[in-house]
Amino acid sequence: MADSLLIRGGRIIDPAQDLDKTANLLVKDGKIDWLGEGMLSAGDYAVLDAAGLIVCPGFVDLHCHLRQPGYEEKETIATGTRAAARGGFTTVCCMPNTNPPLDNEAALNYVRTIAAREGGIRVFPIGCVTVGRKGEELADLNEMEMNGAVAYSDDGSPVIDPDVMRKALEYSRDFNRPIIDHCEDLSLTKDGQVNEGLVSLEMGLRGMPAAAEENIIKRDIELAKETGGHIHIAHVSTEGSVDLIRAAKEEGVHVTAEVTPHHLILTEGAVIKYGTLAKVNPPLRTKRDTVALLQALNDSVIDIVATDHAPHTKADKACVFSQAAFGISGLETALGSLVGLILTSGLSLNNMIAALTFGPARVLGYAKLGTLETGAPADICVFDLHKEWVVDTTKFASKGKNTPLNGQTLRGKVMATIYMGNPVYMDEGMKIRG
Ligand SMILES: [Zn+2]
Repeated sequence: MADSLLIRGGRIIDPAQDLDKTANLLVKDGKIDWLGEGMLSAGDYAVLDAAGLIVCPGFVDLHCHLRQPGYEEKETIATGTRAAARGGFTTVCCMPNTNPPLDNEAALNYVRTIAAREGGIRVFPIGCVTVGRKGEELADLNEMEMNGAVAYSDDGSPVIDPDVMRKALEYSRDFNRPIIDHCEDLSLTKDGQVNEGLVSLEMGLRGMPAAAEENIIKRDIELAKETGGHIHIAHVSTEGSVDLIRAAKEEGVHVTAEVTPHHLILTEGAVIKYGTLAKVNPPLRTKRDTVALLQALNDSVIDIVATDHAPHTKADKACVFSQAAFGISGLETALGSLVGLILTSGLSLNNMIAALTFGPARVLGYAKLGTLETGAPADICVFDLHKEWVVDTTKFASKGKNTPLNGQTLRGKVMATIYMGNPVYMDEGMKIRG
């Protein structure tokens, strides 16, 4: 095969360069080589015809669970990265709530070794904030920094001890790494199953109030303000959280935030319809919350979309509601979920792509990721904005078939994913010639 690839005639959208035009894109030696409207002289390159399709940077997921080591029955680095490639992602950051947790050099090196050998795309590990994710003692962030950690989080749990969070944020300030918090005041969510509201009442399940999320966000913002550290709020789910983040940004606090596709498109009513498949933490909220989240994404109060891909086995979900695991398998439906919002709810196409590309790259501090600038890694997603498809979890690359979207028709389909110049996913009918 030729060592160069020409992606021809697509609508190229790269928010990092404020670019949206029909053009050709040449990839050479794994990097973006040239982008332009003119003709290329004949050369030794293969061609991918992208006429009628959108060509954008490969997506970057700041928040997913690859489950390895320890929970390989739910997902592995190999299956999770294949699922990511099918979803248009070329970089994923994996959360450290594995077994053992990623809180030291050996654990991080294990993930990086497996990812280099079996992962089809770039995997950036996130290290724990505290030893063993126990919330008590700050982990050795310095050691993890030296071994490839790109951010720190005890995700799955909040960092409850404010003094530990303060120390982590001081570290964040000095090393310019985000601390990602799963904001949940556990004293308010004990035995909580769903959003506290109409559905918790109707189903007789213990509710998780919005205040549980907002309390910890409030505290984290105060600590970020005091220390000058960078707090990144994971999976924002309430209107009140949006208000807090907006106000903090206006004050100049170094806070960034993410929203998941499922918190944008589903409300608490999904729990009645889909049962445990819609059980997720934070819980699906109200229509009012989804409207506020979408508005915040359009206004860039929420910086990015992250999947919080949380694969589980069938048994983890095929049980009584209170026993079921929290989480949705989201890598393969992220784009289709979001494109629906462009077509029906006014999400801006440019903002959607920014929130999946240079947005997360910028949260991580990587200027050369999430863009199609000349010289950047040739990480590219080619998608069809209008193509309809039916979600069929039996076709998922992910081991996690746990999604309430199974059987639903989505619009917006990934047609090809290119990682470092090489195709890692091609939809049926897509061909590279030459
Ligand atoms: Zn979380």
